[in-house]
Amino acid sequence: MASLREGLDEVDIGIVRLIARRRGLIDAIAQVKEQGTARIQDPGREQEVLDRVSAAASELGVSASLARTIFRELISDSVAQQARHLNGDAGGRARVVFQGAEHSYSHAAAQKYLASRGLRGDMTGHRTFRDAAGALLAGDADLAVLPIENTTAGSINEVYALLREQPLYIIGEETWKVDHCLAAAAEVPLSSLSKILSHPQGLEQCSQFLQSLPNAMPTTYFDTAGAMQAVAASADPTVAAIASPEAAAMHGLVVLRRGIADIDDNYTRFVVLSGTPATVDLRIPCKTSLILVTGHEEGDLLRCLEVLSGSGHSMTKLESRPRPGRPWEYMFFVDFEGNTADPRTAAALDELRSAALFVKVLGSYPAKALKAPARPGEVQSQPGPAEQDRAEMLEAVAAAPRPAAPRSRQYKLVDRAAREGDTVIRVGDVLVGGDGFVVMAGPCSVESHEQIDATARFVREHGAHVLRGGVFKPRTSPYSFQGLGWEGLDLLLAAGRSAGLPVITEVMAVDQVRRMAETADILQVGARNMQNFDLLREVGKVDRPVLLKRGLSSTVEEWLAAAEYVVAQGNQQVILCERGIRTFESATRNTLDLSAVAVVRERSHLPVIVDPSHGTGQRRYVAPMAWAARAAGAHGLLIEVHPDPDKALSDADQSLTFGQFAELMRGLAAIPGSPATAAQLSART
Ligand code: PEP
Ligand code: MN
Repeated sequence: MASLREGLDEVDIGIVRLIARRRGLIDAIAQVKEQGTARIQDPGREQEVLDRVSAAASELGVSASLARTIFRELISDSVAQQARHLNGDAGGRARVVFQGAEHSYSHAAAQKYLASRGLRGDMTGHRTFRDAAGALLAGDADLAVLPIENTTAGSINEVYALLREQPLYIIGEETWKVDHCLAAAAEVPLSSLSKILSHPQGLEQCSQFLQSLPNAMPTTYFDTAGAMQAVAASADPTVAAIASPEAAAMHGLVVLRRGIADIDDNYTRFVVLSGTPATVDLRIPCKTSLILVTGHEEGDLLRCLEVLSGSGHSMTKLESRPRPGRPWEYMFFVDFEGNTADPRTAAALDELRSAALFVKVLGSYPAKALKAPARPGEVQSQPGPAEQDRAEMLEAVAAAPRPAAPRSRQYKLVDRAAREGDTVIRVGDVLVGGDGFVVMAGPCSVESHEQIDATARFVREHGAHVLRGGVFKPRTSPYSFQGLGWEGLDLLLAAGRSAGLPVITEVMAVDQVRRMAETADILQVGARNMQNFDLLREVGKVDRPVLLKRGLSSTVEEWLAAAEYVVAQGNQQVILCERGIRTFESATRNTLDLSAVAVVRERSHLPVIVDPSHGTGQRRYVAPMAWAARAAGAHGLLIEVHPDPDKALSDADQSLTFGQFAELMRGLAAIPGSPATAAQLSART
């Protein structure tokens, strides 16, 4: 026996030596490839290698599938090795967070990822996905490794939610073959088990096996490896856990059954997250992930997908998820083979932004060398664009001349030419843009429950579609009423909800955006902030319509360029609002520039509405200018109304009384506009 074991040890070391030799050859290949423009992954060549080794294995009486599994890992490692070369990764340490305890699958996947990049990690496990992401966002970690989908149980919703909500970027991915086992403190019959602990994903992935154990209660635990630890600590022989065999061994448990997942090929895909996006060398096989919200017309999703397929990007994943706060509306998570550093991918993304309502690019990252073997519900992807094209493209980039003269236009995505029709934005059950005419009405500022509630009910009864109310107020004097802040937002939301109206309110600072986007239906960027570029970029990152007021002294071109800031971040849902500009005229508070409506409608596909309250500053001029705006082709109005305007804490002079508002709405319905709109307005009055 001893000598047999010695022989075996020798063979094992021999295998490791051969792997080292293989890596030496790969290094030499990497150096050759470094000089060229060819991609480092060659699917045709990989297939050849796999076919050759499995044929050789079969001849020698070794399982072909074992040979393929081993060589897939070797090839994957060698692609990573070459990528490391191109990236110039110099090793080093990274602080890495994951969900769960040591020896959880996330821990193992994180280690595999680090090894593939030649990094060493200081690893910290957190109780929840959110805690791990929080540590990354707080700067306490460099990378977070979180599971995003499993081939048996599907997507991991919570991680998708984090990607949607937080400024996180995907910079890498890793796959891990999940090998669940059932383990307990002692060798006991399965029928004696009363409780089985695991992470909900672990329980879900073994649901068929669990059904075969009628006496045992599946019990969720925060982590698979943690469940093993708990079983070891309790020493109760009727309690077992589901996790990896490594975790069982680590806690001294007895493995009762292996391979208990419903589906044998059970893989989990992990994403590697960072606070900043990565740039990937064009020769490295690369994937890009994004979140997409499409328009509400039939065919809108198809148009977006055609932008990707038409530009030669093959899609590896398309998943629809409910859009939070928008019942029966969906957003899509898309992965495709492409690299944002590639001009063709960048152009496709620009086109996609024009075809969609919201696009958040989650990042480009090196794809794992090989897709997992064909598995249920997944289409095997095609090889990427031909090598030849790639090389040509690289040369073209190097040789691309700089534009001869600066372009006169400072925007492209909001340009009328970027989209076929008008942008139509959905707010609650009302569409802004196109043929509709939308009235947003309410007080300048939310002052009290009684005030906002009475106004909400009144304007709703008289045909308004959206409730306005400022809670953070940009006032000229610091001694004027500054708004009720977040408490005011609660009052506004409650009033809107009870009247059945979506709400619009102004966001003044970058750090208010995400919180406000959780509940407010439209985020208003005020005239004074029209060129607050940080604020524009931030509202461009959330999936909420934005109303962008024209600056006090801004040209139409500057205004459209400001809208471009929002749209360029991915949020296409911008409504422009003309609210008067500063001129030498002093009879009115501002000069309402209605010609801007005609100009904007010519130059841009975005909807444009008019605010005659701020435009004139005096309530008796509001109705005539509202009518004129409608006749000029505006898509709607923003109107200040107050139950007792003379007592208003802000903009008293320009706020309409309830009576004036009712009369305005009657008058509007009589103005010729699109038939649908007139009918819609008179139906509600
Ligand atoms: C408002 O709508 O109350 C407001 C402050 O508007 P503007 O930014 O146009 O002055
Ligand atoms: Mn106001």
